[in-house]
This record gives sequence, C-alpha cells and structure tokens, in this order.
Amino acid sequence: MSLFFSDMDIVFATNNNHKLKEIRKLIGRPFRLLSLKDIAFHEEIPEDHNTLEENASEKARIVFAVCGIPTFADDTGLEVESLNNKPGVFSARYAGNDQNDQANIRKILRELKDIENRKARFRTIIALRWDTDKEMLFEGMVNGMIDTVPRGKHGFGYDPVFIPNGYDKSFAQLPLSIKNKISHRAHAFAKLDEYLKNHFV
Ligand code: IMP
Repeated sequence: MSLFFSDMDIVFATNNNHKLKEIRKLIGRPFRLLSLKDIAFHEEIPEDHNTLEENASEKARIVFAVCGIPTFADDTGLEVESLNNKPGVFSARYAGNDQNDQANIRKILRELKDIENRKARFRTIIALRWDTDKEMLFEGMVNGMIDTVPRGKHGFGYDPVFIPNGYDKSFAQLPLSIKNKISHRAHAFAKLDEYLKNHFV
C-alpha cells in the first residue's frame, strides 16, 4: 500500500480486521478505506475516558493529527437499564483488564440474577475528524433484552446474551447478515456513510 493519499481516502482508526471488512462493505466507492496498518500507525491509543464520545473523538483526533486526511474512530458499549447503564464505556473490560468475553457475560448474568428489568441496548459512537477544528459525531443504537443464559455461536462480546427487540434469538444465534443490518454499528455507520456522500463527494 503506498502512502500517497488521494482525495477519496479515509482512515478508519482500527486494526480490527473483522470490523474493517464489515465496514468496507458499508462504506465503499468512491471512498478508499485505510486502516491504521495501511497508514503505518503503530501506536496504542488508550481508551481511558468515561464516555464513548470522548474515546471515539480522541482516537480520531490523534490519528488525524498524524496522517492529515479524514479519519473516523468508533467506540461501543452495552448499556443495561437496571445496572444504571453499565457496563457502558467499560464493556470490553467489565470483569477485569485481563478477562475475556465469557467472564464479562458471567458478570452481567450474576448482576442481573433475580432482576426483572432486563432491558439493554448497544450504543456506538463514531467520531469523524477532517480538520483541526472540524468534527462530527454519529450515534447508532439497538434496543433489546439480556437473556438468562448465553445462546449461539456467532459474533463476539455480549452477543450470546443480547436478544434484539422484535426477535426471539440472541445476536449470536442470528445470522451475521441480519445482525449487520439491525445492529448499533450498522445504524451509526449508515449515518456516517450518508454524511460522507453528502459532504465529501
Ligand atoms: P468496541 O468499542 O467496538 O471495541 O467495543 C467495546 C466492547 O463492547 C467489546 O469488547 C464488546 O465487549 C462489546 N461489543 C461491542 N460491539 C459488540 C457487538 O456487536 N456485540 C457484542 N458485544 C459488542
């Protein structure tokens, strides 16, 4: 990959190939989506703020400052109503820094034991930065319920315990083609895509 940028290049501040593949399907022509690897950005960017908005915004700002071409970054959290919207911005490391998806799920199920209100939502924030003082935020959400046991094999994170409204299966039981149409990320990226097509083409 050459480091000569064209007008239609946009950086997605991620090294997650799974996400990159998913988003390349959504944000296609006329844009060329570059990853952090493509622009030779190898630093770790800490996600240590208390809101999804601040994390996404800072990631986009730091990467834009290095590459100087339009950059977007995302951050996502699971917000459980009866847990005061926890784990939220701490979703990835809810059960501890060196824990995994299964431990996070076990913790949520433990905390919701005997609690009737199991309403939850996934919320994604995307920050798009294209100048030192130009930024837009896009939000996407999907509402649902936390199941009592994990079910299904697809997806990742909290998918096995999240049942989106209007369905009787968890995200991990539904085909990825359905999840990718109705998910928090799909909604947020659809907004970003529309904005890019209206303002950058
Ligand atoms: P990220 O900001 O996309 O890295 O997401 C932070 C954390 O939220 C992940 O580590 C997962 O635990 C959780 N998460 C984000 N998106 C999803 C999803 O689509 N399904 C299940 N869990 C998710």
